[in-house]
Amino acid sequence: MQTVLEILKKTEGYFAKAGIAAARLDAEWLLAHALGCKRLDLFLQFDRPLKEAELAPLREMVKRRARREPLQHIIGHVDFCGLRLTVGSDTLIPRPETELLVERIVEKLASPPPQRIADLGTGSGALALALASAFPSAGVHAVDASTAALEQARANAAANHLTDRITWHHGDWCAPLDGTFDLIVSNPPYLSQADWEAAEPEVRLFEPRQALVAEDEGCADLLTILEQARRHLKPGGLLALETNIDHHPRLLAAAAKLGYTDLQAEQDCSGRPRFLFLHT
Ligand code: GLN
Repeated sequence: MQTVLEILKKTEGYFAKAGIAAARLDAEWLLAHALGCKRLDLFLQFDRPLKEAELAPLREMVKRRARREPLQHIIGHVDFCGLRLTVGSDTLIPRPETELLVERIVEKLASPPPQRIADLGTGSGALALALASAFPSAGVHAVDASTAALEQARANAAANHLTDRITWHHGDWCAPLDGTFDLIVSNPPYLSQADWEAAEPEVRLFEPRQALVAEDEGCADLLTILEQARRHLKPGGLLALETNIDHHPRLLAAAAKLGYTDLQAEQDCSGRPRFLFLHT
């Protein structure tokens, strides 16, 4: 029988050969998931021998991960701003930088809190749900062009007891929305075709291309949103966007032309220009 530590080392080596960067960490997540314990609990049982029945569920998961299926698809969920979201192949896996976008919005809009919020291209519902949770008096309108994504987002809202304050809209960006908002947010597709081709297999082979890639060097959807959101923001409203790291000069020029004011560009956790905050 092999111990927890032996299995971890073996899986780590197998993952490293498959080109997985965080080989040890991913081995730990999968073994913890297979054993139904927390990752940190593994460290207390390194010498424990594992029974065949405990190892069986791990084997299939390890094979899937070695084929570069994302860890989050195998485990089935991701934690985002304190919420647990189910994720699958119909939506983008929420990223840590998008959690930072939520944090920055919450800091900026602490008082008065926004009452009407729109999330354009909600995907798994990550931004809509995190904002509904952060602003308990707000109504959130979540839009997506994919019915499969909306289904996923609805299920996530229900699982997090946030259904009451979210209205769902099927369509493109602002097209299905009525009225004006205090806050409009979006993490739209923003990779260029070349970025997508250079992306890791986890992204290219398992995440929906339509949630990742936009025309015009990745700028097309962001430019459409800038234009449409202008008419749907209240005076003094905020448009908060996640963007690619080479987009800011072009988007800031377009935003100034459209009459946005107080234009703020901010960086992600790795110091790369990633967010825009624009006011009306
Ligand atoms: N940050 C994501 C990636 O690099 C892209 C997200 C998006 O297109 N909105 O994979």
